[in-house]
Amino acid sequence: TVQPSQRVQRVKPSPTLAVTARAAELKAAGKDIIGLGAGEPDFDTPAHIKNAALKAIAEGKTKYTPVDGTPELKQAVINKFSRDNGIDYAPDQILVSCGGKQSFFNLALALINPGDEVVIPAPYWVSYPDMVTIAEGKPVIVKATLENRFKLTPEQLDAAITDKTRLVVLNSPSNPTGTAYTRQELEALGDVLRKYPEVLVATDDIYEHILWSDEPFCNILMACPDLYDRTIVLNGVSKAYSMTGWRIGYCGGPAWLIKNMKKIQSQSTSNACSIAQAAATEALDGPQDCVKVMLAAFKKRHDYVVARLNELPGVTAIESDGTFYAFPDFNEAMCTLDIQKDTDLAEILLEKGVAMVPGSAFGAEGCMRLSYATSEKALEAALDRLQDALA
Ligand code: PLP
Repeated sequence: TVQPSQRVQRVKPSPTLAVTARAAELKAAGKDIIGLGAGEPDFDTPAHIKNAALKAIAEGKTKYTPVDGTPELKQAVINKFSRDNGIDYAPDQILVSCGGKQSFFNLALALINPGDEVVIPAPYWVSYPDMVTIAEGKPVIVKATLENRFKLTPEQLDAAITDKTRLVVLNSPSNPTGTAYTRQELEALGDVLRKYPEVLVATDDIYEHILWSDEPFCNILMACPDLYDRTIVLNGVSKAYSMTGWRIGYCGGPAWLIKNMKKIQSQSTSNACSIAQAAATEALDGPQDCVKVMLAAFKKRHDYVVARLNELPGVTAIESDGTFYAFPDFNEAMCTLDIQKDTDLAEILLEKGVAMVPGSAFGAEGCMRLSYATSEKALEAALDRLQDALA
């Protein structure tokens, strides 16, 4: 019989999408399920952004664009990096893609040779290890602990790097943990990276604007400007502007790397959607108050959810710095209830009417990722159900 490729057989389908699908299935069967699995804001895309797309359609901006993005969007991205991050890029250092997901995919395929190692701190965004695997690289997972707010220490980073290491991936604020690195912590990681000039760094800043910690946003390149020639900054409009369906991500980095990522994209999707690019230009260039409105709502829900989670027996939840995720540790509760695996716990809690993604999907067995990108009423009901389930 004909078999699928060995490459695809090594890849797992996205577990977060699987939870969403399973919850939808149960809902369709008439069960009352509160879905806390989704990784997207529950707000509509702001009106001025939608209008920019309508205008683009009316003006006939409905054709191929340059592979790496329209000149307007690339300029908006350059302005954004300069304004928000103090990082200067030329147009040949920018690539616009169909989502941050494609940005990372392009990176993996343009950079990694078979057997190259990529250091990925856990808990991690589910797609990093699998995209590295597709590129025939080897994900090197380093477990960050709850005690260290799920952040990699300089010692851990140093121990993980070998002569095969090609890339280190940082994501702050983090999906799934909601915590962000401080400038000081990034400086300490930078001290380690300086010892290994062959290693590149990817910083995934997609949650940059969903941040309420006392410290302003900082990434590794802002903390260590001397790493400019070997850092790639990944970002996108999905989370900050509630534009997940529009599929626009972008990145800035060394020209040689961007050129090669563009080559991969030119032989796969070509340009991102022309209409979505016009909308993203407005998102980046237009008024930013919409971001603050969403941020305030997420913060309010965060405070409520984390407080309620910590009232549950055997559950520990740390305060997030941002995002719209809580990542409570259920290990003690699992012990008490004699549940071995977090996937079993997720199934039991789904039966009780709450859908969450088990931590093992993110490389952190015994935790649960709970998205609070949903109404306060739904969150209250979900936490009542969890309380009943664990009582
Ligand atoms: N990076 C992280 C950490 C994410 O959580 C996501 C989305 O879930 C992405 C990147 C990619 O988002 P998109 O492809 O919608 O830009």
